[in-house]
Amino acid sequence: RAKQGGGNRIEFYSTEMNEQTLYRLELEGYLRKALEKREFFLCYQPLVDVQTGTIIGNEALLRWRHPKLGLVKPDEFIPLAEETGIIHEVGRWVLVTACKQTKQWQQFGLHPLTISVNVSASQFQQPDFVDDVKRALSQSGLEPHYLNLELTESSMLRNVHYSTQVMKELQQLGVGISIDDFGTGYSSFSYLKNLPINVLKIDRSFIEQLHKNASDIAIVKAIVTMGYGLGIKIVAEGVETEEQVELLKALRCHYAQGYVFYQPVTAEEFTKYIAVSH
Ligand code: C2E
Ligand code: MG
Ligand code: MG
Ligand code: MG
Repeated sequence: RAKQGGGNRIEFYSTEMNEQTLYRLELEGYLRKALEKREFFLCYQPLVDVQTGTIIGNEALLRWRHPKLGLVKPDEFIPLAEETGIIHEVGRWVLVTACKQTKQWQQFGLHPLTISVNVSASQFQQPDFVDDVKRALSQSGLEPHYLNLELTESSMLRNVHYSTQVMKELQQLGVGISIDDFGTGYSSFSYLKNLPINVLKIDRSFIEQLHKNASDIAIVKAIVTMGYGLGIKIVAEGVETEEQVELLKALRCHYAQGYVFYQPVTAEEFTKYIAVSH
């Protein structure tokens, strides 16, 4: 396109591209050093039982604070971390940090507290992924059934045969598997039937308009009903209003997560919540 545009436009586009490329390279350079410079930290967002409001576990959410760039959002750096392979080392750090923290909270008295860790597609397809999971469990002392790995439909379906094998190995370890952002990918009933899935997390896009949209209610209702039938727990993501909570209660959705209950908070802040409620 730039070629047809004449002299000035060529320059305009190429300058813009250079700037983008430079920014990417700069970001990549910073990202490579972020782990050793201890710029990453985890936030934890509770998952609650819809009927009682009790905290049943947390999801670990990665945060990157760079001295120059400030707080960078996961949606901005995770794709780059994946493309560059940096995600493997970062992913290992997330796993072990989240497991150790959860073990510590359990020892604090919050016993059946689970932890959900996001796993990106390329991380899951890595040949030593199961070893990383085993190492995080042994280093933390966390029992496997307290750990859930959050995969997306696209990361499972990238290489179905291999993914199935890995999921079965994880199941044998006792680790749970959640499907994140459910309903936005190429949802297929056959994998629900054949794969060891413990939890489906209904994407926020079906929850946002729940109180105004009959289609969303019908979809959530169907997913919850299917969950009871298949023995899969259902989580509603991104719940922001009391109206949504009431509907989810009426629909008998098991668990929920969202700003109406808790925002993602640092480990220190979560520890304060526990101290207060004990
Ligand atoms: P996700 O796993 O679907 O996480 C849910 C996102 O929704 C989080 O954004 C969370 O902060 C946000 N959220 C929670 N409650 C609400 C709500 O009530 N309303 C709204 N509007 N948003 C809510 P966050 O922390 O920016 O993470 C974005 C995505 O980045 C995650 O989506 C996940 O796919 C990815 N991610 C985060 N941490 C990691 C990680 O350690 N490893 C990998 N591979 N991916 C991660
Ligand atoms: Mg998630
Ligand atoms: Mg999600
Ligand atoms: Mg997401």
